[in-house]
Amino acid sequence: MGRTTAWTNWARTERAWPVRVERPDSVGAVQRLVRAAAGAGLPIKAVGAGHSFTGIAVAPGVLLELGDLSGLVRVDRERSRVTLRAGTRLHDIPRLLEPFGLAMPNLGDIDRQSVAGAISTGTHGTGMAFGGIATQVVGVTMVTADGELLTSDAEQEPGLLPALALGLGALGILVEVTLQCVPAFVLRAVEQPEPLDELLPTLLDRAAAVDHFEFYWFPHTATALTKTNHRLPGDAPTQPLRPVAKWVDDTLLANGVYRVLCNTGVVAPAIVPRVNRLADRLVGDREFTDRSTRVFTTSRTVRFVEMEYAVPLEHLPTAFARIRALIEERGWRISFPIEVRVAAADELWLSTASGRATGYVAVHRFFREDPGEYFRAVEAIMTELGGRPHWGKLHGRDASSLRGAYPRFDEFVRLRDRLDPGRLFGNRYLARVLGE
Ligand SMILES: Cc1cc2nc3c(=O)[nH]c(=O)nc-3n(C[C@H](O)[C@H](O)[C@H](O)COP(=O)(O)OP(=O)(O)OC[C@H]3O[C@@H](n4cnc5c(N)ncnc54)[C@H](O)[C@@H]3O)c2cc1C
Repeated sequence: MGRTTAWTNWARTERAWPVRVERPDSVGAVQRLVRAAAGAGLPIKAVGAGHSFTGIAVAPGVLLELGDLSGLVRVDRERSRVTLRAGTRLHDIPRLLEPFGLAMPNLGDIDRQSVAGAISTGTHGTGMAFGGIATQVVGVTMVTADGELLTSDAEQEPGLLPALALGLGALGILVEVTLQCVPAFVLRAVEQPEPLDELLPTLLDRAAAVDHFEFYWFPHTATALTKTNHRLPGDAPTQPLRPVAKWVDDTLLANGVYRVLCNTGVVAPAIVPRVNRLADRLVGDREFTDRSTRVFTTSRTVRFVEMEYAVPLEHLPTAFARIRALIEERGWRISFPIEVRVAAADELWLSTASGRATGYVAVHRFFREDPGEYFRAVEAIMTELGGRPHWGKLHGRDASSLRGAYPRFDEFVRLRDRLDPGRLFGNRYLARVLGE
């Protein structure tokens, strides 16, 4: 059987040569493809937008591309719930929800991902009272290894939902996802530079006082770029960024000029601190009000690699301080910012916020730079603080060390053994983090 052309993820950290690429356009087609793959002894895996930095989406056998399995299945207006086909991209959802006056309650930094991919790795945004996208899931329908359909929601198999809603792609192929939405709302965004040393002592109070708080810090600078979003009713007057201003800020300055600066930093690391001080001035300091999705998400065109760790919320200030000290001690020149966010505790078995209010610290490097030493040293700090790595972002942990980080890890592994004993949905990454 001939190999197809290579698949690669967004960050160019992973490559795969699947035996076949299939584009099913119906649930029945997914079922037939799963049965055929099982019959042929080939592993099968759905990929979303390929935005995971880890090899979690690598499909060595049959790669299912679900672009044709997207869109709205049904709307439950009474309960503000929508059922979407699993391949639906997040950026298409606002248009689908608009006629019903609904919105997703929270989002991450971008909206390129598929809904199934985003929930499967625990994609999250920020906000003390808000969980990641998978916490919005109130029902899923999945094709299991025997080609049958398994639905889990409040009525059918409710006990499985906290595993299936954030299943790392290890349990089956999701074909439908039902989300609990909220009435459409507006966000007032305040983005501003602040002295880092003044922010840090009050970090948790600051985050608790508003709906959505996060900050970026460019290493080698003394400034934090804070982002605060306040939720307002859907009929609140908006004052969006003018399209040209938005393009200049988000694309030209935050992405275009920054790409040039990063490339320069690769060949001349000594200039990185100066570049970062300049980058500090290029972004931030603006206020606007717009529909929620237009505020939560931005575009990221400068390619980077990322590791993100979740620690118990109370350890967040220590985690950040230790990473800051580490960078200074080692004398590294780090051109990409560190991002700090928060989330509410949830009940999903493999969520990075499972059972505890959580603080997130994400470290990045330009994709042309080797992240190895930096990420390993940060990982050691975060592991010591009880950290859990984002499933879709680079990390070096394996099943033996992750088992202790998740109280329900073994329960998940047992469910995987039951649903996929032959590892039809397996790959090398899953073997590492969940066991063979
Ligand atoms: C620029 C950028 C910004 C990002 N910002 C954030 C952020 O703000 N917050 C955050 O938490 N993360 C963020 N991420 C990480 C990203 O959200 C996750 O890695 C997410 O999983 C990517 O979604 P995807 O559709 O690309 O899925 P993929 O990476 O293609 O797949 C992820 C997993 O989902 C599985 N999967 C996909 N479809 C199905 C299906 N139908 N059934 C079963 N399993 C399925 C795949 O097999 C794989 O295991 C960012 C990544 C990038 C590159």
